[in-house]
Amino acid sequence: MTERFQGSFTQQEPIPDEGIAAANAVMQSGRLHRYNTSGDEVSEAARLEEEFAASVGAKYCLAVASGGYAMTTAMRACGVGHGDRVLTNAFTLAPVPGAIAAVGGVPVFVGVTEDLVIDLDDLAAKLDQAKVLLLSHMRGHICDMNRLMALCDAAGVTVIEDCAHTMGAAWDGVPSGRWGRFGCYSTQTYKHINSGEGGLLIGDDPADMARAIMLSGSYMLFEKHRAAPPLETFAQIKFETPNISGRMDNLRAAILRPQLRDLGTQAARWNARYRVLEDGLANTPGLRLIPRPDKEQFVASSFQFLLLDWNAAAVADVLGRCAARGVELKWFGGAEPTGFTSRYDSWRYAPSEPMPASDRVLAGVIDMRLPLTFSDEDCALLARIIKAEVSAVYQGTAVTE
Ligand SMILES: *Cc1c(COP(=O)(O)O)cnc(C)c1O
Repeated sequence: MTERFQGSFTQQEPIPDEGIAAANAVMQSGRLHRYNTSGDEVSEAARLEEEFAASVGAKYCLAVASGGYAMTTAMRACGVGHGDRVLTNAFTLAPVPGAIAAVGGVPVFVGVTEDLVIDLDDLAAKLDQAKVLLLSHMRGHICDMNRLMALCDAAGVTVIEDCAHTMGAAWDGVPSGRWGRFGCYSTQTYKHINSGEGGLLIGDDPADMARAIMLSGSYMLFEKHRAAPPLETFAQIKFETPNISGRMDNLRAAILRPQLRDLGTQAARWNARYRVLEDGLANTPGLRLIPRPDKEQFVASSFQFLLLDWNAAAVADVLGRCAARGVELKWFGGAEPTGFTSRYDSWRYAPSEPMPASDRVLAGVIDMRLPLTFSDEDCALLARIIKAEVSAVYQGTAVTE
């Protein structure tokens, strides 16, 4: 009998009971706005910021409306403005170039390697084109951060990290988000902690964070923050910084705090599932697994592999066969963007040069979500199905270009 997968690739786990209870308490209080505190009460949003900052060893943290908002705020706080060029990954998701466009910036795309990280040689060649790099740790793959920072520091390029897929991850023992001037995280449903929508921004520089807090819409209530710079830092900044409303509310913060406490446990559960898939797909002819360097402590909330140099018809055949068996794979190599997969040349509002080496990789990137509602047995089954269908297509037809 042909095995079929029954799980849902978009079904996350429920919010923990503790989060539901905390959310109910916020709703009963009626004080959902982060600055609507009574007496000495510390809001859920302020507590989340304190706890998140402590969890990554950052001085300051700001909770905001989305990961995209965290990125635009970081860029604004670093002075990125209209017409400024910003280096970023050719392989990332649409909110990253979108954030650059939102501040009036112009993306300069940097290539992707077969290991699905930013191409540091291509970066080195383009460092003279911009003052800021918005670095996306796309799908949780972390590049050699020691080398990246050495290159950017030498060129005077500011690094802002997009950690939408690396909350809880690290390179060489240093948490993702702690290498650059700012770290940006998303708490949207498909990321590592789930409040539907939401974002977090961390950093160590007092003036940067004072600007970010004012930008997020603190009015003159910034003294209610805790993971924030001293009040005197705001003396001038409070008059000079526009309010571009994008705060997080107490309801979302209440849901997130218990999830943040569980992040380490959840990361281990994700990685156990990832290893089952990786083991199951080892030695599949025509299929390239993505190496995971020793220095990379990842959180595998999704799984990627490459069908490198396959022709489009053969890749489409694999996707169709897997879909018929309940396995939803996404492809970054399609001619048109679909679902959440798009690529640098789909963002037509931003100019781009052809990038043949990256095109070759993108044409073979297959992506799969790995929600924690899948069991280890589910992952073993997914691997069996993918392995069988990739092998069938690979053996049956001429798949390479
Ligand atoms: C989800 C995501 C974002 C943006 O997060 P939102 O909270 O949805 O705005 C940024 N970068 C990457 C790579 C993402 O996947």
